[in-house]
Amino acid sequence: MANCAVVGINWGDEGKGRMVDLLTDHFDIVVRYQGGGNAGHTVINDKGKFALHLLPSGVLRDGVVNILGNGVALDPENLLKEIDQVRANGVDITPDTLKISDRASLLMPWHRDLDELEEQRLKDKKFGSTKQGIAPFYSDKYQKKTVLAGELFYPEELKEHLRDLMEWKNLILTKVYGAKPYTEEMIDQWLHDYCEKIKPFVCDTGSLLQQASKEGKEILFEAQLGSLRDLDYGIHPYTTSSNTSAAYAPIGSGFPGVKIDEVLGIVKAYSTCVGEGPFVSEMFGKEADDLREAGHEYGAKTGRPRRVGALDLVATRYGVQVQAATQIALTKLDVLSFMDKIPVCTKYIVDGKETDQFPFPAALSHAEPVITYVDGWNCDISKIKKWGDLPKAAQDYVLYIEKEIGCPITYVSVGAERDEIILR
Ligand code: GDP
Ligand code: MG
Repeated sequence: MANCAVVGINWGDEGKGRMVDLLTDHFDIVVRYQGGGNAGHTVINDKGKFALHLLPSGVLRDGVVNILGNGVALDPENLLKEIDQVRANGVDITPDTLKISDRASLLMPWHRDLDELEEQRLKDKKFGSTKQGIAPFYSDKYQKKTVLAGELFYPEELKEHLRDLMEWKNLILTKVYGAKPYTEEMIDQWLHDYCEKIKPFVCDTGSLLQQASKEGKEILFEAQLGSLRDLDYGIHPYTTSSNTSAAYAPIGSGFPGVKIDEVLGIVKAYSTCVGEGPFVSEMFGKEADDLREAGHEYGAKTGRPRRVGALDLVATRYGVQVQAATQIALTKLDVLSFMDKIPVCTKYIVDGKETDQFPFPAALSHAEPVITYVDGWNCDISKIKKWGDLPKAAQDYVLYIEKEIGCPITYVSVGAERDEIILR
């Protein structure tokens, strides 16, 4: 596959972690290029069951080098907790297997505070943030008010830089939100407890990627969330604060000149959405509860019940276009096995007019779904390994989606475990 980006086509939670884990068999390096510890990528394989947040999903495959690129929100405290959890399950993580870009900005404790304080202020108009500090972090990054991981190697300059940032942050904490200010002792403690411990992992990952590429090594780029949460192309303002699209992978990974040969878009066989914002094909009541239970749709990071709905072809078509996906992995097909008839959202009606185009964000709250029902297959497909062994109705469902979204479906996932996959 040469270089490949694995990206979400919809709202996230499509099964990116599951696909990255499967594909790492063929890759030397996995890079997370955006987002932060608010991700929840669930991976189940011979090593156990893992919910990865910031760590690339390649950490579970021996021999793979994992990189946290300059585009991520690097929270030293939560990263160390996550490393400890993964290590406790018998997986070794060392500076040979995990490398942190010296150009990654550090997520500070005040970013998490500000996230929480702002959601409290917004009350019922809140965004449904995971309160990991992601939005305040990226705002600061764009204001050039963050420190880079590489600055940890320049302690004198770092101290002064942090002192200046703290002074400014304290004004906002105390005067805007009436919260407690930070002290230099608190920041020193944070440096000592967490930053010192991540230092061995920090290096110039950009040069490493360039060199690896020259040697013919293959790189997999792992995204968080999906097209509809992309800062520029998603459902504004219910997006995340970074670009979830494959086009950002070269920038956020530390290899701006890299050519991405394949973009594998992940689509779930039905739709889910965590957090607030328009979700046109949303289902409610018993129908929704049954689907949520069948798919275990609860957030890996927060435990929040996910909103569920019919597969939204309008949003998916748009997501495929945003990602410039060259192929698709359709996941969780097995979850639909309990349905006699499967609902699919084929079009929207916006202000009385039918459309198959994904509308401008502000128009989405006026959109109604047009639902069609297709035949279900009503039997367990989770043990099937070959396309030809799938019941005809399941094949027809996949082929119908493929035709509607205009992109080849090359993988069909029928279970959460590594080998529960059908290659077409
Ligand atoms: P990500 O954030 O895109 O990596 O996706 P999540 O891990 O948040 O959500 C996908 C969930 O579905 C996880 O709990 C996976 O273990 C599970 N999963 C992935 N693929 C399949 C599948 O084909 N069938 C079933 N039943 N579960 C799956
Ligand atoms: Mg997830």
